[in-house]
Amino acid sequence: MDYEKMLDRAYDKMPSVVFEKKRFEVPFTQVSIEGNKTIFKNFKEIIDYIGRDPAHFLKFVGREMGAAWRKDGSRLVFVGKFGAPAINQRIVKYVKLYVTCPVCEKPDTKLTKVERILVMKCMACGAVSSVPQ
Ligand SMILES: [Zn+2]
Repeated sequence: MDYEKMLDRAYDKMPSVVFEKKRFEVPFTQVSIEGNKTIFKNFKEIIDYIGRDPAHFLKFVGREMGAAWRKDGSRLVFVGKFGAPAINQRIVKYVKLYVTCPVCEKPDTKLTKVERILVMKCMACGAVSSVPQ
């Protein structure tokens, strides 16, 4: 059986209600400044919401901001002072690139590797899209 048929069959078995999720809204970034550090207060909430690998997410956001980050217990800390909108802007960009499907715009996707290349696979429409490596 070829892959396409396998996918079709898998989708046939899923109730359509699976795809009717409530509106996807990533929580807005919350930060507090402590000295020369920025505490990313709701990091866990956001990472849980978007369902991506924290390391991948942080690598992108840190690079976009030109900021080093580290874990401080359960907290996530950026070195330097950053406002919530500045961080949030990068998160929105990450979500656009790595979370929402460019075909159907649904967030029901996952990142997976195909022959060592990272791709986004959409669970809602079945599209496989390329993402920045
Ligand atoms: Zn899709």
